Amino acid sequence: MEAENFVSTREALTRSDGELVRLRGWVYRKRELANNIFIVLRDSEGIIQCVVNRESAPKELVEEAERATIESSIEAEGSVATDARAPGGKEVRLSSLRVVGLSENFPIKGGESLDYLLDIRHLWLRSRKLTQIMRVRATVLDALRRYFIDNGWWEVSPPILTQSAVEGGSTLFPVDFFGRKAYLSQSAQFYLEVMIFSLERVWSLTPSFRAERSRTRRHLYEYWHLEAEAAWMDMHDMMRVVEDMVKATIKEVLDKRLEELEFLKRKLDPLEETLRSKFKEVTYDEAIERLQKKGFNIKWGDDIGADEERALTEDLNVPFFLTMFPKHLKSFYMKAYDQDPRLVLGFDLEAPEGYGEIVGGSQREDRYDVLYNRIVEEKLNPADYQWYLDLRRYGSVPHSGFGLGVDRLVMWITGIEHIRDAIPFPRLRERIYP
Ligand code: ATP
Ligand code: MG
Repeated sequence: MEAENFVSTREALTRSDGELVRLRGWVYRKRELANNIFIVLRDSEGIIQCVVNRESAPKELVEEAERATIESSIEAEGSVATDARAPGGKEVRLSSLRVVGLSENFPIKGGESLDYLLDIRHLWLRSRKLTQIMRVRATVLDALRRYFIDNGWWEVSPPILTQSAVEGGSTLFPVDFFGRKAYLSQSAQFYLEVMIFSLERVWSLTPSFRAERSRTRRHLYEYWHLEAEAAWMDMHDMMRVVEDMVKATIKEVLDKRLEELEFLKRKLDPLEETLRSKFKEVTYDEAIERLQKKGFNIKWGDDIGADEERALTEDLNVPFFLTMFPKHLKSFYMKAYDQDPRLVLGFDLEAPEGYGEIVGGSQREDRYDVLYNRIVEEKLNPADYQWYLDLRRYGSVPHSGFGLGVDRLVMWITGIEHIRDAIPFPRLRERIYP
C-alpha cells in the first residue's frame, strides 16, 4: 500500500494502527539504543515519535537515521502503532527516511542564558514554547480582525511616517525625511478620526513605535496596535465594543487553542470567568482610595503606574475599566467632563492577574474652542494641529476610540512573564537583531 501525501504529526496521531503515513518536519529529539533509533519529529502542529528498528530495517534506512542530527529536516514514511510510552500514545515505525537538510551542531541544547537565546532568536523561535505562543497570537489576530469585519467596521490604512505626536514628544522616534524631521507613528488615532467623517466606524492594525525610556516587562519599542474610532459613540458605547471584542477573542482562543494553553500551563479559570462576567467600571477616584487602603503612598492627581496597576489587578480574574482620569494625566484630545472640569472621559482596560493596562481609550473632545484651549494649555502649537482642529470646524460629531496593545493581550491570554515572548522579533535596545 502506498502512503498518501504528507500528513501533519497531529493528523498522524489520529490514524489507526497499521496505517501508512508520510511525514515531514525536523528532528526534535533523538535517542539511539541498541535495537532502536528513536526520532521525535516536529512540525507546525506538534511532535510524533518515529522508530527505526536496527534489525528489521534495511541498511540504508538505519544509516540515514544515524546520520539525521537534531534539527535536520527530514521526510519519513511508516506505519502507525499504538505505544503508551510515546508522546500522544502512538509512534510511527519507519520504512523510509530521507534527510532533506542536514543540520550542523544545533546551538540550543537546553539551559542556555537568556542573552544567548535572544542573540539566536531566529533559532530559538523553533522552541515548542514559542511555537505555542505564536499559534495563540495568530488566533488572537484572526479573532480581532474577524470581530471588526463581522460587525461592519471599515478597515483603513494609516501612515507610519508622520509629522505629529499623538502621545507626546518624549517617546517619539525621529527619522530623516529628505532633510526634514519626521517620526515613526505612535498611534493612528488622528488619522482614524479623519476617516470617521466618511466611514463612521473604522479600525486599523499597524505597528506603533514608542521610544520608552524605561525597560519593563510590558513595553516594546515596536508593538502591534489595534485601533478603532467611531462617530456617534460616547465613552460607554466604546467600552462595550472593547468588552465584546476582548470576549470574542478569548472565546476563539479557548475554542481553537486549548492544547497550546495547556502546554503553556495557562490557568483557564480567569479566561473562562472573563467570558461569563460583565466588566466593571472603577473610577480613578475609587482606584486611588483602593490603593491608599492597600498602603500605597498615593494621592489624588498622581499617576497610576505599573506597580499600582499590578496591585489593583493581581487578585482579580476578570478585566475592569479604569475611568474618569484627572485631565493633567491624559492627552489633550480627551473630552472634558462637564460636570467636573478636573476630569476627562477616558478609560483604560486593566487585565487581571497583575497584567494591567491593555487598552487605552476615550471619548474625544469634539468642540473646537475647548480643544483649541486645551492645546494652548498644554503648550502645544495650534498651527501643528490645524488639520486636527479642522475636523471640529466642518461638521463635528461626538466620537470615541481606543487603542489595544495586541502583544499585551497575547501576553495576558497566554499567561507569560514577559512581553518580548508575545512577538517573534522584539526590538531590543542593545541591538536590532535579527
Ligand atoms: P503605558 O502607560 O502602559 O505605557 P500608554 O498609556 O502609553 O501605556 P496608550 O498610549 O494608551 O498606552 O496606548 C494604547 C495601548 O497600546 C496601551 O493600552 C497598551 O496596550 C499598548 N501599548 C502602549 N505602549 C506600548 C509599548 N511600549 N509596548 C507594548 N504595548 C504598548
Ligand atoms: Mg506608554
